Amino acid sequence: MISAKKERMTAQKSFILNYLMSVKTHPTAEVVYKEVRKKLPTISQGTVYRVLNNFKKKGEIISIDTKDTVHFDADISDHAHFICEECQNVYDIYDECSKCGILKNRKTKVGKINHYKINFYGICGSCKK
Ligand SMILES: [Zn+2]
Ligand SMILES: [Zn+2]
Repeated sequence: MISAKKERMTAQKSFILNYLMSVKTHPTAEVVYKEVRKKLPTISQGTVYRVLNNFKKKGEIISIDTKDTVHFDADISDHAHFICEECQNVYDIYDECSKCGILKNRKTKVGKINHYKINFYGICGSCKK
């Protein structure tokens, strides 16, 4: 038998994951908490942080570390990120990276590549203006 507490926990978890899957903005835990709280006003910040870390441990989401904080991404397909050093926004990079030999062939002298995590740092188009 599932307790009411467990049931609520499961609902919160899927709500958080669904929210993360619906955005492309790589939100921080703080932003996830603010957004999720609009629909689930009783959820605590601690729960949101814990749920995000559990999803990360299980490999259901990934995290991107920037200078001051950690961003989360529910898109676990292989892609690289561009981190703007000005606005700290995190952008997805897909096709440009697949043209790179090492990522296309998935092989290095050391061994076969299963997955990768690449961050590029620079100034994004909207900050350059
Ligand atoms: Zn920027
Ligand atoms: Zn991403």
